Amino acid sequence: MRNRCNKLFVILFVFFILSSTFSMMTVNFLSIEDETEISLIESLEAGEQINEGPLFSGYDPVIHQMMNETEDSNIYDYIDTLQNFENEDGIRTRRDGTLGFEKAVNWTSHKLNSFGLDVFRQNFTYSKGESSNVIAELSGSDPRLEDETYIIGAHLDSINSDEENKSAPGADDNGSGIALILEAARILSQYEFNRTIRFAAWGAEELGLHGSSHYASNIDPTEEDIRGKFNYDMVGYEEDGLAITHHANTQSNWMLDYKSKVAKSYDIDINFTYEYDSNLTASDHSSFWNEGYDATLSIETEFNPHYHSEEDTVDKLTIPQITKLTSHAVGTIAHLAEEEEPPSVELETPKGGESWEPHSEEGITWHTKKGSRNITGIDLKYTLDNGSSWTNIGTNLNDTGSYLWTVPESHTNEAKIQIIVYDDHEMSAHDISGSFTIEKDEDEKEIPGFTFPVMIFGVLLALILHSDEQLSKKQNFFETLVPTR
Ligand SMILES: [Zn+2]
Repeated sequence: MRNRCNKLFVILFVFFILSSTFSMMTVNFLSIEDETEISLIESLEAGEQINEGPLFSGYDPVIHQMMNETEDSNIYDYIDTLQNFENEDGIRTRRDGTLGFEKAVNWTSHKLNSFGLDVFRQNFTYSKGESSNVIAELSGSDPRLEDETYIIGAHLDSINSDEENKSAPGADDNGSGIALILEAARILSQYEFNRTIRFAAWGAEELGLHGSSHYASNIDPTEEDIRGKFNYDMVGYEEDGLAITHHANTQSNWMLDYKSKVAKSYDIDINFTYEYDSNLTASDHSSFWNEGYDATLSIETEFNPHYHSEEDTVDKLTIPQITKLTSHAVGTIAHLAEEEEPPSVELETPKGGESWEPHSEEGITWHTKKGSRNITGIDLKYTLDNGSSWTNIGTNLNDTGSYLWTVPESHTNEAKIQIIVYDDHEMSAHDISGSFTIEKDEDEKEIPGFTFPVMIFGVLLALILHSDEQLSKKQNFFETLVPTR
């Protein structure tokens, strides 16, 4: 028996070596074959969604025309008028609660109304008294998009930080911002846009952002869809060439990207700085941040040394900086208000976590939503390596919502499906499934790796048993020679 045991051990060992070698050969062979099938199309990853904002559609000659309508003389006149409003004592100020501020509210309302806009005065009370915001609206012309609203605003009040009753002409802070809003309103009101644009002049900013905070905290998100607020505060001073800094908090970073694209497409001749992930909260945009809305602040890069003093007058400002920034604001708002909606798509199956068998037919399903244009086609792709490379399943497919896919020969837990939807204006969207597994059923999987070794094992076993048989025959022969006892 000992002899037999040794032989069996050798047989099993040979069997084990052969079996594992053959299995490895099979796997290697398969993956080499699969790699040759994969073309490196693109590398995309499924990941968390960041707020990318609307797509920028690029240069538009009509919008360029609007941007060119800004006038230095208008900007100058608006600021000159604003800085000369006087209180009861004949002191130039628009400090909140004074007659100067009241005059500014009336004049701003009248001005916005003269552009053909619907204007309303939003009164509010706060810790230090009563005040008002002036809001004008240019309603969107597309019934599907008119709820989507962009706000462009600036504070109307001024302050002298030395003394309450001292002169506060507030030419830069913030006659410059109001002048920009008025000039943008004058131009934009002559056109129609898909979405709604609101022009705002805030009260009581200098006393604690009260006007904008009252407005932002009273937005009813079930009634209106505020897409972004553009705030302008102190934009007329420059010391060393035209220079403006744009601030956005993290969720509003897309607004800086968008502003930058507009500036490049229309060659805006101002040195722009973009402060991403900014935490500068010292103006009305932060009232919108506080309520979760996207907002930016544009402010001069070099600070006006005369702000909050009687020296803040129009003669110290560089009017072309405000005019050019107004052009940029007009372009940005016009684009956003008019921008076409890209389509959207969501993969339904596979969701991820499934296990599909090679060569089986599986249903890929999805939902699309059309944007402004009609969907013209769908591309489907798969990856076997977590998105390092993608292979086409089909291109320019009809948007039928489902596709029967023959799963490729593979063994992976890093498979994903990607769907791309595009419309007749070359706008597109994509979605990527979670990871799923492609593997053979356990019973079947054993077969290719085992058939060959089992055959070898069988042959070897037969040979050994045969030689054992021969040996025992010999033993029997010798036993016959031994005399029986
Ligand atoms: Zn200010």
